[in-house]
Amino acid sequence: MQCLECGDELSKLDNNHLLHCCSLTLHEYALRHHLPLDLLLDRDQINCEDRIDEYSSPPSQPSERARALLRGVKWSGLLRPENEFTLLPGEVRRLDLLLWDLQWLAEYGFQFRQEYRYADATHRVTSLNRLKVPTTLLQQNVDVRLSPVPPPDFLWSLAVLIAHVGELQAGYLFLQFPQQTAAETVMVESEQRGIHFKQLDAADHTDGVLLRTLRLSDTRQLLELVKGMLNEMPGVSERFYQNTPEVTVSKELVFDSAHFITDHPAKCSNLHGGRYLLHVKVRDRIDPVTGCVVDYGYLKRVATKQVIEKFDHHNLNYAAAELAWRSSTEMLCVFVWEQLIDYLPGLVELELYETTQSWCNYAGPSLETFQERGSDRLLGHFVDESLGRSPYRNLIKQKLTTLEVIGKSTG
Ligand SMILES: [Zn+2]
Repeated sequence: MQCLECGDELSKLDNNHLLHCCSLTLHEYALRHHLPLDLLLDRDQINCEDRIDEYSSPPSQPSERARALLRGVKWSGLLRPENEFTLLPGEVRRLDLLLWDLQWLAEYGFQFRQEYRYADATHRVTSLNRLKVPTTLLQQNVDVRLSPVPPPDFLWSLAVLIAHVGELQAGYLFLQFPQQTAAETVMVESEQRGIHFKQLDAADHTDGVLLRTLRLSDTRQLLELVKGMLNEMPGVSERFYQNTPEVTVSKELVFDSAHFITDHPAKCSNLHGGRYLLHVKVRDRIDPVTGCVVDYGYLKRVATKQVIEKFDHHNLNYAAAELAWRSSTEMLCVFVWEQLIDYLPGLVELELYETTQSWCNYAGPSLETFQERGSDRLLGHFVDESLGRSPYRNLIKQKLTTLEVIGKSTG
């Protein structure tokens, strides 16, 4: 097999050759030359067992930076057990960040592995980059100090968390946590520094928590605070600051609902049902690390929770107080916008079809404007406290008996 980087003829292409020849890993080489891994690898390179005796205890106890880093990756939920190992996975697009992690995590005995796996279920050979340590060795190093030690530097742990799992959407920072306790620590410690988060009901783990910076100013303040740290980590700043193309992504949702239009002069005043089609459109820059504007899975999860669960197989008029009077497509769009904007600050348009021939488009306020002005007054007429306070009500209050008589005579 010929190495396409140096031209040498080799019996087997592996990381041993490639790292010396071009400093690329085999997976990167495969991507650069758009070759299937299956073609590059020999059978004896696939599904190899990692040997625990190749790992050894580091000579000294971990530094403060290493402790802060380990806490950050623990918060992120990325650190996980596999057989007798604990591992931190890394994406091939962010190999340098994983190697940056390694320079500190080596103090706990972590080593880098690129492992090639074949699974019958997928019929594909995949490559996995990971930092690994035998779990027993990690525990020895974590527990090395018997006396209580103060927690590691919060900002470093937070910067590590942001670098690994932070997502910027329209200027707001989103952080997923698999565990409540980590999210609480981050919220409390951040608030002490004047930075506020909002907890959103759209975590990607069953018991997880999703936090979003409350306002744009919180994101700016937070990123300023950890800027120097993020700059140290390879490929992290570009993720948040690099100019990339802006794209609009759209998710189509379908729900079946009944409704009627109060005081409508024609047949829409009758209770009737239909199939609604909603397009949720989000516009933002492409995240250079994920290659996406927003994860379609997240978009679907949010839309299902905030729209489908509320309206599907329900009567729109009774599903939300704001729609009791008028459940028109226009009112529904304004209402749905307010349900989604907290979760999707990049929301640019809703397109709602009541039938294939009748639809409306709506571009509502940005999250920042929505936070300033609150819910649209259009939706609030019947739920507003001012309802019934007009002096004209006295005109009918004084004639209550008359109303009752009329009621009796017509009923
Ligand atoms: Zn070569």
